[in-house]
Amino acid sequence: MKSTEKKKNPYLLSFKESRAIIKSNMKAMKTYEKRKRAKVLPEQYTTVMKNADNVLEIEDLHTYFFTDNGVVKSVNGVSLEVPRDKIVGIVGESGCGKSVTSLSVMQLVQAPQGQITGGEIRFNNDTLGYDEKGNHKCYDIVKMPTSAMYGIRGKDISMIFQEPMTSLNPVFTIGKQLDEVILLHGENMDKEKAKAHSINMLSLVGIPMPEKIYGYYPHQLSGGMRQRVMIAMALSGSPKLIIADEPTTALDVTIQSQILDLLKKVQRQSHAAVMLITHDLGVVAEMADYVVVMYAGKIVEKGTVFDIFDNPLHPYTMGIQKAKPSFSADKKSGHEQQDLYSIPGSVPNPINLPDTCFFKDRCDRCKECCSGGYPREIKVSETHSVFCHLYEDAE
Ligand code: SF4
Repeated sequence: MKSTEKKKNPYLLSFKESRAIIKSNMKAMKTYEKRKRAKVLPEQYTTVMKNADNVLEIEDLHTYFFTDNGVVKSVNGVSLEVPRDKIVGIVGESGCGKSVTSLSVMQLVQAPQGQITGGEIRFNNDTLGYDEKGNHKCYDIVKMPTSAMYGIRGKDISMIFQEPMTSLNPVFTIGKQLDEVILLHGENMDKEKAKAHSINMLSLVGIPMPEKIYGYYPHQLSGGMRQRVMIAMALSGSPKLIIADEPTTALDVTIQSQILDLLKKVQRQSHAAVMLITHDLGVVAEMADYVVVMYAGKIVEKGTVFDIFDNPLHPYTMGIQKAKPSFSADKKSGHEQQDLYSIPGSVPNPINLPDTCFFKDRCDRCKECCSGGYPREIKVSETHSVFCHLYEDAE
């Protein structure tokens, strides 16, 4: 690449720069992969919960992707908690790191490019008891070897994916796929018991004629039915935590509300905690107890659903609330649709993130103080916190 081209576009990489990035990526990926395969004793991935009422505690999580253009910091210091029996909604626009956060919890980040490079993911499945100081013991998923993760993935933590057609195997019947999960995680299960349990799960999620549907292939079902099967599959191991990654995005609006109602109903029945990933604020308002708002790999605001919807503080949270279609009353014609608001500008390049607030270039409330480093967490109440320089005097 010629130096004049580089001057015109500073993001273009020279051959030398490109080689240096690949070399350093190879080194980093090799180190992380080696660490995953190393023999780790259970004591080394056992830690204690900060609060025994939480099922999941994520602390300062960093998940990076080592690409040929540089290191993409998809999750860049995220800390959040998922309490027992509660639904925590994670919202933000595409690419803000919400799905990568959930994949990190499942240890399903696409390796070797994607790696958890730091932080703790404490998962409490209530089987490890207490330490000598009386603290509730739990697993640290970041340090857990893949072989140990097989014991909790799908059983204690399960996931409902966005697109059920690509998550279900098209060449096996619904029943065979459900049986497989039940046989893998259930205790004292044989084929007959697994079949009875699968049919029971299908009827629990509201599938009519479950005995018949048990023998169907995924393509014989509608999108809504397939998502019900995915929910049945996620519930079949009686999980402590269900991660629902945009569970209604691939469904049409009439089915969306049925699936959300079902998810809420099964959560109440099973008392599982739910981490609900979505970009739809309406879904969060209807479902969640707590809300975490993410932007460019970081949390910008978190609180109860009432904190976030009744008293949003971060300019980004206010922006996404404004950016939803609405109707205004018009005296002459009854109702009139307003122009759809959009937040100006775009998300910063995740390879070259600024050392100021990441929202600075798009923020309409930006002040002089916003140039000084990334804002720290400011707790405005027991449940509500925000990362914005504007509230530094509010503590
Ligand atoms: S810190 Fe400043 S730039 Fe960032 S969101 Fe707050 S007001 Fe806007």
